[in-house]
Amino acid sequence: TKNGGRNGFSYFTAAMQEVAKIRMRLTNDLHNALAGKQFEVYYQPIVELATGKIAKAEALIRWNHPVAGLISPANFIPIAEETGLICGIGDWVFQNVVQQLAAWRDDGKSEVQISINKSPIQFQNGTKDHSDWHAQLSALGLPGESVVIEITESVLLENSEKVRSQLSKLYLGGMRISLDDFGTGYSSLAYLQKFDIDFLKIDQSFVSNLTHTSNNLALCEAIIVLAHRLGIKVIAEGVETEEQHVLLKQAGCDYGQGYLFSKPLPAVEFGRLLHATS
Ligand code: C2E
Ligand code: CA
Ligand code: CA
Ligand code: CA
Repeated sequence: TKNGGRNGFSYFTAAMQEVAKIRMRLTNDLHNALAGKQFEVYYQPIVELATGKIAKAEALIRWNHPVAGLISPANFIPIAEETGLICGIGDWVFQNVVQQLAAWRDDGKSEVQISINKSPIQFQNGTKDHSDWHAQLSALGLPGESVVIEITESVLLENSEKVRSQLSKLYLGGMRISLDDFGTGYSSLAYLQKFDIDFLKIDQSFVSNLTHTSNNLALCEAIIVLAHRLGIKVIAEGVETEEQHVLLKQAGCDYGQGYLFSKPLPAVEFGRLLHATS
């Protein structure tokens, strides 16, 4: 009809205005979330495939919004990155994790290594540099290796002097570096050699379709062989089935993370999984 396009257009803008409104509200609320103590860190176990032991965990932030309830990081991390709030949030996550690590140690729990996600934005304009992070660790008497920093390939792609020096400071202070979502970005294999990478995480998109007959099996096997040749340990993300677990173990994958083993857990619940030492 004559007005069809126009109606379509106005419907479209109305929908977009709605999305923009929700976004704006979230952005406002995000500013108050830190002060309002609305964030919580969950821990997802990372299992050593050869022994079945929980060797590590990944710290994953949760936002308990007072009205909307639990909001997924997939929905608010991008906003936090655009607004720069991610730097304060990232520092809070780090502080929260190291205090938790010290508490578990004081409780006589077995040692565990925690991975913390670090956004590319934090490398650009983080408020705290790594000497502060090292200072926090050593103030609590924790070794650098208790923390692994997860970065994405895009950080390495920048290849800037700033990134390079921040990564080497991290590394020299004993923290470990893990390359997240491997295989989804502009993977340049040269990175693996150029930077001090300790772990590589095979992205869950490769793991989710993993069966005896899939091409993904060949991909996973190749990634594992390559990483091992370079002295890098491999963690498979998003392991959901026993078949995937068995195939990854047969392929020599070092660690697995996914719903098959456990979903992300509140700190108290994860702490219960840690054995008492001695
Ligand atoms: P990511 O770093 O790739 O984290 C893995 C995501 O996969 C998590 O989603 C986890 O809950 C989910 N997952 C784990 N096992 C399975 C599985 O078996 N199947 C499926 N389908 N999913 C699984 P989550 O917790 O919603 O986090 C989403 C993303 O938000 C993270 O992806 C990370 O990029 C970001 N994020 C989370 N916490 C932080 C943080 O503290 N700082 C920063 N900068 N980003 C964070
Ligand atoms: Ca991650
Ligand atoms: Ca990942
Ligand atoms: Ca991801």
